[in-house]
Amino acid sequence: MAVDSSALINWYDVQARDLPWRRDGVTAWHILMSEIMLQQTPVVRVAPIWEEWVQRWPVPSRMAASSQADVLRAWGKLGYPRRALRLHECAGVLAAEHGDVVPSDVDTLLGLPGIGAYTARAVACFAYGQRVPVVDTNVRRVVARAVHGSAEPGNPSTTRDLADVSALLPRTRARAATFSAALMELGATVCTARSPECARCPLPSCAWVDAGRPAHTGERRKVQKFAGTDRQVRGKLMAVLRESSAPVERVRLDQVWPGDPGQRDRALHSLLIDGLVEQTENGLFALAGEGS
Ligand code: SF4
Repeated sequence: MAVDSSALINWYDVQARDLPWRRDGVTAWHILMSEIMLQQTPVVRVAPIWEEWVQRWPVPSRMAASSQADVLRAWGKLGYPRRALRLHECAGVLAAEHGDVVPSDVDTLLGLPGIGAYTARAVACFAYGQRVPVVDTNVRRVVARAVHGSAEPGNPSTTRDLADVSALLPRTRARAATFSAALMELGATVCTARSPECARCPLPSCAWVDAGRPAHTGERRKVQKFAGTDRQVRGKLMAVLRESSAPVERVRLDQVWPGDPGQRDRALHSLLIDGLVEQTENGLFALAGEGS
């Protein structure tokens, strides 16, 4: 089943959330920052940090001139801080090799540090209005339901997912870009994972509803726990280092997770391996870039 692009675009024109990165005057660099932040963090937590970053690092060269530790501190509690390190690296490449401007074509974007299939197309589409398929979890879910009649999407496959959404794009560039934004918005706000609000849906027809809303028969995706995980320990260790202006002794880190020394060691080791934390010559610990 096709998706009624006119109905979706008309709905988006009226109902789209007023998100700061959708406003006039936002550059491709600002959009790139928002896309990296939004990958694993909700809008409400991203928005205030993004506003700060746009002020502080309006162009890539400004970020590149800051240290890794500055960027990690500013990242704060957004989680998955490797994203911040990769963005800092990306800023350096943009400043040195791309005239401080984010490129507009997907292949060049894909060559940048930390930019994958989704982010490259999101930037090409949302910043430059390109007619490219943009596929995130929300889009996959809407397509699974509205087009394929399934309650949930199957396992991700970049090739198949991109082809699926490509086939739905309106022909003109401007409409295709709005359609992509609208499809994502529908998945984020109406066709949600837990409780799709079909009464509010702008699509006049939906394969899943037409089929009588068949239940999902495949494996359920496990909801990731946070409490007690290595990720929680990593977050606590990073918080100590973010809040300290100088390298700290091991005992300071040990205090934040006294219960399971093995887990604490593992978490610290993984932060060192990921390049988020460094050890100084005299055995102290510091954020990346602050240990030498
Ligand atoms: S009708 Fe319901 S299930 Fe179908 S796309 Fe709209 S919100 Fe999703």
